[in-house]
Amino acid sequence: MWRKGKSGNPEGVNQFSGVELEDRFRRQFVILSNGCWQWIGSFTPAGYGKIVIEKRTIGAHKISYLWHVGDIPEGDLVHHSCENKGCVNPAHLELKTPLTHARFHLHKSFCKRGHAMTEENMMIYRGHRRCKLCTNELQKARYHQRKAAA
Ligand SMILES: [Zn+2]
Ligand SMILES: [Zn+2]
Ligand SMILES: [Zn+2]
Repeated sequence: MWRKGKSGNPEGVNQFSGVELEDRFRRQFVILSNGCWQWIGSFTPAGYGKIVIEKRTIGAHKISYLWHVGDIPEGDLVHHSCENKGCVNPAHLELKTPLTHARFHLHKSFCKRGHAMTEENMMIYRGHRRCKLCTNELQKARYHQRKAAA
């Protein structure tokens, strides 16, 4: 259940509780085969699930984190380890400081071999981001290998 925040949190979400809210939350996500709790309610322009509580818009993933895991220390961000911004599964959420979070996403904007992960060069394969250049090269290499073996 809801825990009263000791450290408080930027949005004061901890003060909200109740069966009605729990119910509202539960009715607004579906569980996907990859384990994500996909939010099906409304979304912020940035693509995060949102829920309106007493006229305040709050990230659905934040509510889920507060609810299932614990406090969000002031200034910390709730990051999606599954990279699905619409996911509210607490097991896919982790706290990051703004610095480590920025580093994570910066790092993630290049593939292992240093290709920029722009939208054109990015594909989603089984819920994960993949570099198109690398995937193409891999396919070519496999093709040649097969040819050589034949
Ligand atoms: Zn997820
Ligand atoms: Zn993140
Ligand atoms: Zn690459």
